[in-house]
Amino acid sequence: MSEEVLPKSFEDLIKDVHDLGICGECGGCVSFCSADEIKAIEMSESGPPKYFNKDNCLHCGICYLICPQTHVLDDELKKKFNYKISIGNYSKISSSQAKNEDIRKDATDGGVVTAILVYLLEKNLINGAIVSKKQGPFNRIAFFATTKEELIEASGSHFDLSHGVVRLEHYNSFVPTITKLKKVVSSDTMNIAVVGTPCQIMSIRKMQELSILPAHIVKYTIGLFCNLNFAFDEEAHKKLEKKFDFSFDDVEKLNIKENLIISLKNGKILNIDFKDIHEFARPACFACKEFSNVYADISFGGLGSPDGYTTTIVRTNIGRKIYNGALKEGYIQESPDLNTSIKKSEMLAKVISFEKRKYNRYRKTMKKIYI
Ligand SMILES: Cc1cc2nc3c(=O)[nH]c(=O)nc-3n(C[C@H](O)[C@H](O)[C@H](O)COP(=O)(O)OP(=O)(O)OC[C@H]3O[C@@H](n4cnc5c(N)ncnc54)[C@H](O)[C@@H]3O)c2cc1C
Ligand code: SF4
Ligand code: SF4
Ligand code: SF4
Repeated sequence: MSEEVLPKSFEDLIKDVHDLGICGECGGCVSFCSADEIKAIEMSESGPPKYFNKDNCLHCGICYLICPQTHVLDDELKKKFNYKISIGNYSKISSSQAKNEDIRKDATDGGVVTAILVYLLEKNLINGAIVSKKQGPFNRIAFFATTKEELIEASGSHFDLSHGVVRLEHYNSFVPTITKLKKVVSSDTMNIAVVGTPCQIMSIRKMQELSILPAHIVKYTIGLFCNLNFAFDEEAHKKLEKKFDFSFDDVEKLNIKENLIISLKNGKILNIDFKDIHEFARPACFACKEFSNVYADISFGGLGSPDGYTTTIVRTNIGRKIYNGALKEGYIQESPDLNTSIKKSEMLAKVISFEKRKYNRYRKTMKKIYI
């Protein structure tokens, strides 16, 4: 008689993700565990989640399947989203900006993400959006914004440090927004947008593929490009300040494009190459193969656009509808000079080269792990 093949479980997640040192501590497995009510697993104080009571595990495999560091559903997602090498499906690439100056003033790049969220809210297409609120450099928290003001407050990466920088034991630029999803549901008929990095949007797509509630309320996935996120302790924080000769107290804005860009209050701008800050990055990010957020409805980044503009890649029909809607209704604008075919080709080439670079980094990391 053939042996019964059980679905994967948390045990396998420990073996295939935690033990390899590539858990990103996103909290997805704990938040969406089928044994949530009787509690099988829980977050640790630091490090990957752990068993709370192994006997409560239902061996359903959900934690394994939705983890962004496992790849069982990759082929299904690629098929569903019409994936093409190397930056996925897309119908348009552009360089645009928010029309509203209040949005542009504090935005990370051109404020297009915020302008589109405001458009969705004002047209009653969403009840709110999961975004992240600024607390200080390398420190944000997940937040469900339900007003235009809250969306604008969550935009950008300028910091009001007039009350001084809060000293933390741990700094982490990764925000576990996925865990917020379960907490915002007040009605099954809600419509929300989620802003997320590729790993977060991928988890949502996996949940939608498996019909895991409440992923069905996510009607709009707003993806950010992402090369790396950072996680470090107080000691590394001091080392970072010393290495690049600045103080967190003097940081006015952080941005990530081709490099990490730290703007200081005195007007000085530090352009730091990613390879010089690898020691401050989250180990999980080196095992991540995606840069341009291929499963989002629309993806956004600074790469390829001049200051004050956001590079925008429209991917799905939903993405096309909201981009065109926001453009038509005057929430966003495209600069004719930046949207010539030559400029668009240059933009595209940059995104493709970053996508390829990231994939090669992933391959190198996995090769090292399995040696
Ligand atoms: C961690 C991270 C890494 C990135 N890496 C790159 C990169 O390598 N190259 C590149 O070109 N672009 C990168 N980006 C994207 C870029 O920084 C801008 O977010 C993007 O261009 C949109 O700009 P905007 O002015 O239109 O957005 P805004 O209008 O300023 O809105 C930004 C939105 O993102 C939300 N947000 C901010 N931080 C996070 C977070 N950590 N997790 C979830 N949501 C968040 C905000 O709450 C806000 O809703 C990265 C973004 C993040 C958050
Ligand atoms: S990456 Fe997220 S989902 Fe995967 S094991 Fe770690 S916390 Fe769980
Ligand atoms: S019950 Fe399911 S989701 Fe929860 S730990 Fe066990 S296998 Fe994972
Ligand atoms: S590099 Fe990958 S794992 Fe790290 S935050 Fe970005 S998308 Fe997530």
